[in-house]
Amino acid sequence: MAYETEPARSRAGGEETLDPAWEPTADANPPDELQILRDEPVSRYTSFRIGGPADFLARPADTASLGAALAWAREARLPLTIIGGGSNLICSDAGVRGLTISFRAMRVPVEVVEEGETILLRVPAQRMLSAVARWCCEQGWSGLDWAVGLPGTVGGAVANNAGAHGTEMIDNIASVTVMGPDGIERTHDRAWLRARYRHTVLRSPDPAERPAGTIVVAVTLRLARDDRDALLALADEHAAWRKEHQPRQPCAGSIFKNPPGTYAGLLIEQAGLKGYGVGGVQISPLHANFIVNIGVGKARATDVLAVIRHAQETVRARTGIGLETEVEFIGDWERVPSAE
Ligand SMILES: Cc1cc2nc3c(=O)[nH]c(=O)nc-3n(C[C@H](O)[C@H](O)[C@H](O)COP(=O)(O)OP(=O)(O)OC[C@H]3O[C@@H](n4cnc5c(N)ncnc54)[C@H](O)[C@@H]3O)c2cc1C
Repeated sequence: MAYETEPARSRAGGEETLDPAWEPTADANPPDELQILRDEPVSRYTSFRIGGPADFLARPADTASLGAALAWAREARLPLTIIGGGSNLICSDAGVRGLTISFRAMRVPVEVVEEGETILLRVPAQRMLSAVARWCCEQGWSGLDWAVGLPGTVGGAVANNAGAHGTEMIDNIASVTVMGPDGIERTHDRAWLRARYRHTVLRSPDPAERPAGTIVVAVTLRLARDDRDALLALADEHAAWRKEHQPRQPCAGSIFKNPPGTYAGLLIEQAGLKGYGVGGVQISPLHANFIVNIGVGKARATDVLAVIRHAQETVRARTGIGLETEVEFIGDWERVPSAE
């Protein structure tokens, strides 16, 4: 039985760098100064709290250590997988082969350029988006209030073109700075991202479009001066809306894209699937487009796949509508037993 979107092996990392004779990387030997972790559970880096071990995992806090980790991966010919906040990912129970980079950090300074009423804000990709968004409201700068309460990093939001309340990341982007697998930083105009609904070249499934192994290191946002109190009130409203409408348990956000003219959550709810569960996960009784982890430590990615498939089959049988996944599958799905 096919999924509407098949899990693909290490989609986020450039398989193009793989030698056809490449084997798992047990013999690669990272230098001590890179502080690369071996067999590190990816479940520690995803909001779903699900995912097997990464062969190697680096946590660079800045672009210099990111470049050093990339140089080692290139030398050792390892495929790369990039995780920001891990809030849109389902990682295989078999884990991730090659080098996984967890690129998030709190205390990296932003740069502000004020041009009259316009503010240009250069934000490092590893910063958490929601905290940056609230800080902008506190400064009286409008444009990012919609992102208050949205999980994940600035880099992940750029790659996904994340959005909420009728606005999306691309609406604020002036330019984006990326580091290629060669360790060189390049700045591109916003058009380079070819953004559309929850999509940019950085997460394109098409290898011809996706620049393999390319990591966002910073983004320059265009903001405007506005009323500080009104912006803070809006930020509180957005945060309260999330508390009321979205589950608190570990999850990966909306599982399915909304089909044209309707809502995935509504179709799943009308099929009577709220609360439907397999193993340690269930369809949220609060919002049917969320699958939540109710057995942290026990829930498996294959449980999630089984629930996804059941929802897809049931909705298709009732309505003829195929639900496509919005979440992204990372890791080694070839070694995982089928969810049949
Ligand atoms: C409770 C909940 C609510 C959510 N609500 C929304 C919502 O309202 N709107 C919405 O759009 N999304 C929502 N999401 C999904 C998710 O939070 C967003 O898509 C978020 O922007 C992902 O950011 P991240 O840093 O967690 O990315 P990750 O999940 O870590 O990664 C997502 C993709 O971005 C890539 N990536 C990450 N960092 C970088 C980088 N620096 N450079 C290049 N590529 C990178 C990864 O390789 C992957 O392809 C929600 C998720 C949860 C758990």
